[in-house]
Amino acid sequence: MILELAVLTHFSHTIVIAPSGQSMDQKMLIRLAKSHGTPIVVVDHKVLRENYAQFRKFLPRVQVYYAVKANSDSAIVQTFYDAGASFDVASMAEFLNVHEKLAKLSAKEQQDFIWDRVIYANPIKAIETLEQLDQYKPLVTYDNHEEVIKIARYAPHSGLVLRLRVPNTGSMVELSSKFGALPGEAVDLMSFARFSKLEVEGVSFHVGSQCTNAQNYVQALHLAAGIFAEAKLRGFDLKLLDIGGGFPAHYDDTVPAFRRLAATINSEIGRLFPEPIEILAEPGRFLVASAATAVAKIIGKAVRGGKPCYYLDDGIYHTFSGVIFDHCQYHLKSFKKGPTQICSVFGPTCDALDTISLAEELPDLDVGDLVYSENIGAYSAASSTHFNGFNPATIVHVNK
Ligand SMILES: *Cc1c(COP(=O)(O)O)cnc(C)c1O
Repeated sequence: MILELAVLTHFSHTIVIAPSGQSMDQKMLIRLAKSHGTPIVVVDHKVLRENYAQFRKFLPRVQVYYAVKANSDSAIVQTFYDAGASFDVASMAEFLNVHEKLAKLSAKEQQDFIWDRVIYANPIKAIETLEQLDQYKPLVTYDNHEEVIKIARYAPHSGLVLRLRVPNTGSMVELSSKFGALPGEAVDLMSFARFSKLEVEGVSFHVGSQCTNAQNYVQALHLAAGIFAEAKLRGFDLKLLDIGGGFPAHYDDTVPAFRRLAATINSEIGRLFPEPIEILAEPGRFLVASAATAVAKIIGKAVRGGKPCYYLDDGIYHTFSGVIFDHCQYHLKSFKKGPTQICSVFGPTCDALDTISLAEELPDLDVGDLVYSENIGAYSAASSTHFNGFNPATIVHVNK
């Protein structure tokens, strides 16, 4: 029904909305790659909606704040908005990306949405950002004294959430060395905020991204419960607990089932944080990773040290940026059948860092053949560059 049309460019990606009602099978990937040219990233909005529904189903007490940094594509943010999500933003641009979605609401409804459903979850905010944010009276996180002084001065209408440092053991992306107040200083930081005439509404943490170790959540919940108890003795009435992101995407079968992790979290929050304490979470990767597939073309082929080497028109400065930034190894698949061999796969730029993998299993392929990589919706196209004159992949949205 919807015509295929190039609608807008967002963060310099060309964006295409493809007709709906198709499943993302190999045939469709080939067809889309032929009609739009490569490299492309196909985003299936049906999968986005399913992932959101899964999260709601297995963690029914938890309000879902989509972490926009995992994939800030405006159409993805729109789909989560339509599904009823709230949002975690961490820059002014991300805030405005969400704010755009509220255009049809009255001024009062917009303000209510931002109060109730948006958290600015970057513990460090530039003064200019605080000045711009203050009019929206948002919820913001903090983890140090200096930030309280800045917030009190430049965004005194904010509500505060104290970000706690928690173990990130075994998570694919570690965050605890950069952010988080130590448990021993947490309540003092709340007192300092109160002294500065700011209101502390709750506590947040992040167990590290792609956290497959349920014990990280258990330990973090226990630490947070200790802080809640200590805060209560000091006269704080904390209303919310933000359990952050980290929920793992099912990249392969070594990742434990979400249902099991959710069951552990549910029983701990039920015991430690009885209602009416509000529980929120900031899933990024879990909601978007499995919704996108990259399709690239082989533009060159060589044999080096006896090993086949393929050169693609997409690489680590582009859709495969997660190989570097996200510590995520993406695997490539071929549309062709046949006996496979170990090969190297490189991106198109002149930099040797632009190496997607030194050990992929692919059949014998030719220049012009297509390859694809699944589960590439999180921390991928979001950090594409224009390095060396190669543009980011075209984003093709299906089932919107
Ligand atoms: C990155 C980030 C998230 C999202 O994390 P995922 O592991 O993708 O779920 C959530 N909250 C904060 C504060 C973040 O920095």
